[in-house]
Amino acid sequence: MTRIPERLIEALRRARRTVILTGAGVSAESGIPTFRDAQAGLWARYRPEDLASREAFQRDPELVWQWYQWRRELVAAAAPNRAHLAIAGLARILPGVTLVTQNVDGLHQRAGSGGVIELHGNIQRNRCSADDELVEIATTGSVKPPNCPRCGAKVRPDVVWFGEPVPKNALVTAQFAAEHCEVFLSVGTSAVVLPAAGLAHLARAGGAMLVEVNSAATAASENADLVLRDSASSAMTALVQAVSGG
Ligand code: NAD
Repeated sequence: MTRIPERLIEALRRARRTVILTGAGVSAESGIPTFRDAQAGLWARYRPEDLASREAFQRDPELVWQWYQWRRELVAAAAPNRAHLAIAGLARILPGVTLVTQNVDGLHQRAGSGGVIELHGNIQRNRCSADDELVEIATTGSVKPPNCPRCGAKVRPDVVWFGEPVPKNALVTAQFAAEHCEVFLSVGTSAVVLPAAGLAHLARAGGAMLVEVNSAATAASENADLVLRDSASSAMTALVQAVSGG
């Protein structure tokens, strides 16, 4: 069981506003590989950067579409793990929790979290590649991108690709929450990808306690006030129990 320092328990109980930023490490225990883990099977010879970009989609839309279809199947077959459930539980016992995720898998929502700020979109949604408007279309089993019913352009997944800006509303809301929180928890993220990585800096500038939950050291570890060096599921389960007095 992860040991939770007393000063973290007290800080969370006192906090009126807490921000939790999550990354792919939170979903790793649901069987969804992080980008930095080895790619599986068919996809082992590709780098994600070569599949998750606008240039890649223009160059070879069917390849990119099929990779996303494979990832969608993984997500659909996955279930939230104890980390997702503990994060949803923490928001029920603490006031003013804002959950910001870089994950596109929707597992936080399936675990019962509400008001999730999705910085990088959601893999189960689609949008038009020409005007970025959401498109409601059945894609199960399709091996090439369907055409937008409004304009005929190719449909793409509603995720933020390498080199693309994050949705403005999501970013502004996340930045405001980070600037005004008292505790900032960074869970299962390597915290190097901007602008998500910048949220911790905003929180620190505003005087928040920075806490990292990660099974390995990251670029953000040395700036953290506290580090829980454990899996997201063990650490977050222990944290929610400690805060609720269990
Ligand atoms: P990331 O940059 O968030 O890195 C993953 C981090 O999780 C690493 O620091 C690793 O040490 C840590 N980690 C791994 N397993 C863990 C565990 N069980 N408990 C705690 N920590 C653990 O994520 P990435 O893989 O570099 O992906 C970058 C971006 O790509 C994401 O932010 C997201 O937009 C997208 N992506 C999303 C998903 C998803 O939705 N599940 C998966 C892969 C990539």
